Amino acid sequence: MLEDKNNNSSITAVVQATDAEHHLHPFTNTGALNKKGARVICKGEGVYLWDSEGQKILDGMAGLWCVNMGYGRKELVDVATKQMNELAYYNTFFQTTHTPAAELAKEIASVTPGDLNHIFFANSGSEAIDTIIRMVRQYWAIKGKPYRNILISRENAYHGSTVGGTSLGGMSGMHKQGAPLVPNIERIRQPYWYGEAGDMSEEEFGIACANALEEKILEVGPDNVAAFVGEPIQGAGGVIVPPANYWSEIQKICQKYDILLAADEVICGFGRTGSWFGSDTLAIKPDIISMAKGLSSGYLPIAAVAVGDRIANALIEHDDDFNHGFTYSGHPVAAAVAIENIRLMKEENIVEYVGKDIGPYFQQRLRETLSEHPLVGHIEGVGLVAGIALVKDKETKEFFPSDLDIGMICRDHCFNNGLIMRAVGSRMVLSPPLVISHAEVDELIEKARICFDLTLESVS
Ligand SMILES: *Cc1c(COP(=O)(O)O)cnc(C)c1O
Repeated sequence: MLEDKNNNSSITAVVQATDAEHHLHPFTNTGALNKKGARVICKGEGVYLWDSEGQKILDGMAGLWCVNMGYGRKELVDVATKQMNELAYYNTFFQTTHTPAAELAKEIASVTPGDLNHIFFANSGSEAIDTIIRMVRQYWAIKGKPYRNILISRENAYHGSTVGGTSLGGMSGMHKQGAPLVPNIERIRQPYWYGEAGDMSEEEFGIACANALEEKILEVGPDNVAAFVGEPIQGAGGVIVPPANYWSEIQKICQKYDILLAADEVICGFGRTGSWFGSDTLAIKPDIISMAKGLSSGYLPIAAVAVGDRIANALIEHDDDFNHGFTYSGHPVAAAVAIENIRLMKEENIVEYVGKDIGPYFQQRLRETLSEHPLVGHIEGVGLVAGIALVKDKETKEFFPSDLDIGMICRDHCFNNGLIMRAVGSRMVLSPPLVISHAEVDELIEKARICFDLTLESVS
């Protein structure tokens, strides 16, 4: 094992050297990272992490938007141990099931909106998205319309990093690598009001962005479109909250052309926006949704697709296999942890806490403390997720040149001052654990303010 109990610095050096020699990091310039050495994270408790140098860090991102119930929850550890002792693994392919998979399907169906009553299991958000791509196409094939196979998504959407997820997503940096992409995917503009609306009001812009869907449908032919897919609030794209009228307009257009509506709830699901799902908060009525991250609070990898009656009944009544699944679909240990995670969320009224108490407090404190800051162009967010646009000029909304990488400068100041905040281009994003207290929100925002000041000094 890579440890040296008497000398923390040497632990850091040993792990960094080993990491540099053998580990290729995701979404990372590994060569550049190897030169400076990765930060070694050792321990987590509540909303805090500790690194190998002993620095305590407030995790303003809940890991990667996932550790919703906080670090060090013994209840989750205990159910995993118990389940591993009892039945560490069995598949759900061979006309078999087990208690955790069946029970978790029921638990998820009890919290999902509308008629999303059937659950298909996967291990990551990307796999859940691939499942949606294959399932909606199969739905239309069952209905005798295999030509209805185009999916429409949005620019700057994030739907994961498998070939399917990359293709469906709208991240240009990802599309440039590992192409060609999956065919029959079309994209429309994102509803990013602050950055892209020009002089339009939020309402006008919401209509314009929804109309882009109708234009695209007419362009490719309504009879060729399977589904529209979107995150209720874009996460990895920089936390972009659409105008209030956007989703109801999208909904109408999907209905008009009989197009399935898929919500990618991988970030918004499980309380992040102050309801169980982002679809509840934004009044979306999806036919199918993906979920992952918060489902197990990140303690084990697990994901799911909740399928509405329309699609589920077609699959169930169709007298044939659905030839899709993963070795670990419904993994019993991951499922047991997810069941316990949902039980804890209910016992501690976490969704209500985010919706009525800590979410509004967080949003209000953010705006009170940071709106006037010279670097802050705009703050948007709901519940415990927020995006902050950093600008060169507040009045003219002029952005910094992208080669300055203002977001990275700010992120590094945060990193060095005990706060994890993520940079997406020139937007800073926050998504703390849902169990964060008022005092911890105060600490987070005070640290952010100091780091914004340091960032301003760095660029002045
Ligand atoms: C993170 C994310 C994914 C991908 O999930 P992975 O578990 O990383 O595969 C998909 N969609 C959204 C909205 C996400 O935020």
